[in-house]
Amino acid sequence: MAGEAQDDCLFCKIVAGQIPATIVRQTATTVAFRDINPKAPVHVLVIPKAHYPDAASLAEGAPELAADVLRETQAVAEEEKLESYRTVFNTGAGAGQTVFHAHAHVLGGRGLQWPPG
Ligand code: AMP
Ligand code: ZN
Repeated sequence: MAGEAQDDCLFCKIVAGQIPATIVRQTATTVAFRDINPKAPVHVLVIPKAHYPDAASLAEGAPELAADVLRETQAVAEEEKLESYRTVFNTGAGAGQTVFHAHAHVLGGRGLQWPPG
């Protein structure tokens, strides 16, 4: 069923506490933790606790939860004292998605080029 934890999903395991992560914020519906391979001085991932494979399926299946994730990106940026930051949702392997549990990357703490690579 949509939103249910998947046995083979890395981020579902982080939500369940089965894999350690450096958690910076938690709400009833979301978890934010530091990316293990940071691409900027601040690189935090915000995920819904429920499993959706990507941002669009999250927005389609649970729009309020998608809004919770977006709200948390701002909360992370404030907590990390970022005046400017970038929120990225990679969708599909060709765009660099490697974990198929929806997640927002919050990147900041350095200048960010546009367009991204
Ligand atoms: P994406 O490539 O957009 O799917 O993003 C997945 C992100 O998860 C990558 O930036 C990885 O560095 C990060 N990642 C993978 N495993 C872990 C982990 N155990 N803890 C924290 N971040 C992770
Ligand atoms: Zn998952």
